[in-house]
Amino acid sequence: MKPTDTSDPDYFHQVVDCQWACPAHTPVPAYIRLIAQGRFSDAYLLNRDSNVFPGILGRVCDRPCEPACRRTRVDGEPVAICRLKRVAADHRDDITDRLPAKPEQTNGKRIALIGAGPASFTVANDLAPLGYECTIFEKLPEAGGLMRANIPAFRLPEKVLNEELQYILDMGVELKLNSPVSSMKALLDDGWDAVFVGTGAPKGKDLHLPGREEADANIHIGIDWLESVAFDHIDSIGKNVLIIGVGNTAMDCCRTSLRLGAESVKVMARKPRNFFKASEWELEDAEEENIEIVVNHSPKAFVTENGKLVGMTFELMEYDVDEKGEITGQRVTGEETLPCDDVILAIGQENAFPWIEKDAGIEFGKWDVPVVDEETFESSRKGVFFGGDSAFGPKNIIWAVEHGHQAAISIHRHCQGLGLRDRAPREVELQSAKMGMFEWRYSNAYTDAERREMEHVALVDRFQRLNIEVELGFTAEQIAVEVQRCLNCDVQTVFETALCEECDACIDVCPVECLSITPDADSEADLRASLSQPDAPDGQSLYVSNPLPLTGRVMIKDENVCLHCGLCAERCPTSAWDMKEGVIKIPHADDQVETVA
Ligand SMILES: Cc1cc2nc3c(=O)[nH]c(=O)nc-3n(C[C@H](O)[C@H](O)[C@H](O)COP(=O)(O)OP(=O)(O)OC[C@H]3O[C@@H](n4cnc5c(N)ncnc54)[C@H](O)[C@@H]3O)c2cc1C
Ligand code: SF4
Ligand code: SF4
Repeated sequence: MKPTDTSDPDYFHQVVDCQWACPAHTPVPAYIRLIAQGRFSDAYLLNRDSNVFPGILGRVCDRPCEPACRRTRVDGEPVAICRLKRVAADHRDDITDRLPAKPEQTNGKRIALIGAGPASFTVANDLAPLGYECTIFEKLPEAGGLMRANIPAFRLPEKVLNEELQYILDMGVELKLNSPVSSMKALLDDGWDAVFVGTGAPKGKDLHLPGREEADANIHIGIDWLESVAFDHIDSIGKNVLIIGVGNTAMDCCRTSLRLGAESVKVMARKPRNFFKASEWELEDAEEENIEIVVNHSPKAFVTENGKLVGMTFELMEYDVDEKGEITGQRVTGEETLPCDDVILAIGQENAFPWIEKDAGIEFGKWDVPVVDEETFESSRKGVFFGGDSAFGPKNIIWAVEHGHQAAISIHRHCQGLGLRDRAPREVELQSAKMGMFEWRYSNAYTDAERREMEHVALVDRFQRLNIEVELGFTAEQIAVEVQRCLNCDVQTVFETALCEECDACIDVCPVECLSITPDADSEADLRASLSQPDAPDGQSLYVSNPLPLTGRVMIKDENVCLHCGLCAERCPTSAWDMKEGVIKIPHADDQVETVA
C-alpha cells in the first residue's frame, strides 16, 4: 500500500477525534490539559480563539465532539467535553485585559451586520480588532439571537450570555437594537463596504389541521412562544399542555411550560424513540422533570368546544423497521383524543427573507433560500455574505460561530481587494512532548474512571422561578477525575522509519495491540487481516509506514484504538516512535496577513 502521507495537516487533525468533529475545531485536549493544571483563564482564552462563547457553549453546545470522542471506543462514555468547557468559564479570573482591544484607529471600512445572533457577533469579534467599523442591526430589544430569545434561562443564565456578548461589544462594535432591517436595497444604498446577513431561521412551522383556526388562541408556534416568554410577554399557560414534535425546541417548550404552571405536559412524537431529533441529554433532562413522551401518535385534528381548544386527536401509528433501523412501512391502527388546554407546535423552523427584494441582486434557490458559497459564504451579490442559520437552514450555535469566522475571512479579503479563495491554509505544528528520557509534558497514565455525572438542582427547588439554572457545574473532585479521562489525542505518535530496528519492543509493550510489523499488502482489508488486533472498531484509516530498512516490511498503527499512552515511545531503544504535541492551526481573519497598502 502507499505509505501514509503525514505531511497533510488533516492527517494529524483527524486523529484528534473531538477537534476534527467540532465545527469550529476547538483544541479540546489542549484546553483540558490547562484545566488539569488549574489554569482556568488560559483554558478559557485558548478555547475562545475558535469558540467565541465558551461559557455559553459550555452549557448548551450541541456537542458534536462528544459522540466522536476516542474514549467512547475505549469504555463507551465520551469525556464530558462540554462540561469541562464550562469549568474553565466558571472558574476563570477577569480576562478582559487579555482580550483583543478596540483599535485606536479604524481602517475606515464599514461593515453592516444584520441580526445580533452568534453568527454576526463572531464576525464582529474577528473584524473589529482589525480596525473594521462594525454595526449590528437587531430587530429585538436585546442582543443574542435565539440564545436569548429561545434558549431558556434555566439552561443558559442571562449573566453568562450578557458577559460574553459584552466582551465583543467592548471591542468597539456598534449595536442598534429595535432596528429591523426592512429593505436590503435601502441598506445597500447606504454604501457599506460589506454586508453580513445573520438573521437566522426565524419562521416556526405551523400545522394546518382541522380546527386550527377556531383553536388559534391556544395554539402556539414554539419558537415565537419561547421568545414571548423570554421577553416577559407571557407568564402563564394552561394546566394540560401538549407539545407537538420531539426535537430540542420541544424539550425547551415542555420544560418551560412546567415552570409557567402546567401540571401535565406531554410531548407527542409521531415515531418511536430512536427516530427522535432531540439530543439524548435534553430528553433525559425533560424526563427527569416528569415530562411524559408519547410515541407513535400522529396529529390529526384540533378538537374545540364553543370555539375553544379542548383536546387533540391523534392517529395511532405502527411502523416496520428493517435491520438498518430504517422505516420500511407504516400503518394507522386506531385513533386517540387527548384533552388539553394549550398546544405548542415544535415541528421545525424555516428561513424567511421578506425584507430582501427580488431585484436586490441576491439569487434565491430551492425552497426560497439564498444561494451561498459554502467556502466563502458570499451570496451571488458581491460583498453580501450570509452565515449561521440564515445561510443553510437551522443548525446550532457552534456552526453559526464557525460560519462567522469563515465569513469574516471573506469580508476582510473582500475589503482588501484580495481573492476570497486564496485563504491561509490550515497547518499542524509538531512539538516534541519529551521532558526527559521517559517523561512527557502530558499526563499519560491511563485511568479507567467512569464519566462524572453533573449534579442538578433538586426538583422541588427548580420550578420556583423561570431562571433557576438546573445544572450545577462540576465539583472539584469531578473536575479532577474527568480531566484525566481525556486521552490527549493531540499528542501524536510520530514514527521515523529510518530509525526502526524491528526489535518489536513497541509491539510487545502496547497495551491495546495497535502496532504491527507485517509484510506490505495491496489493500487495507488485506493489511487489517494480518494485524495483532484485526477486529478493532474502525473509523480512521490505518497508518502505513515506508518500507522498514532491515526487511522491507511495514510498521502499521491502528489509530482507532491507540490510547496515546506513550509506552511505545518510552520502550523504543532508537526513538523511532516519539510523542509530539500537534498544534492544529485553523486560520481566522487575523491570520490573513496580506493587506493592500
Ligand atoms: C428552542 C431552541 C433551542 C435551541 N437550543 C440550542 C442549544 O441548546 N444549543 C445550540 O447549539 N443551539 C441551539 N439552538 C439553535 C441555535 O440557537 C441557532 O442555531 C443559533 O442561534 C443560530 O445563530 P444565528 O446567528 O444564525 O441566528 P439567530 O440566533 O437566530 O439570530 C438571528 C437574529 O437576527 C434577528 N433578525 C432577524 N431578522 C432581522 C432583520 N430583518 N433585521 C434585524 N434583525 C433581524 C433576530 O431577531 C435574531 O436576534 C436552539 C434553537 C431553538 C429554536
Ligand atoms: S479522549 Fe480527549 S482528545 Fe481524545 S477525542 Fe476524547 S476529548 Fe478529544
Ligand atoms: S501510544 Fe503507543 S503504546 Fe500507547 S496505545 Fe498508542 S501505539 Fe500503543
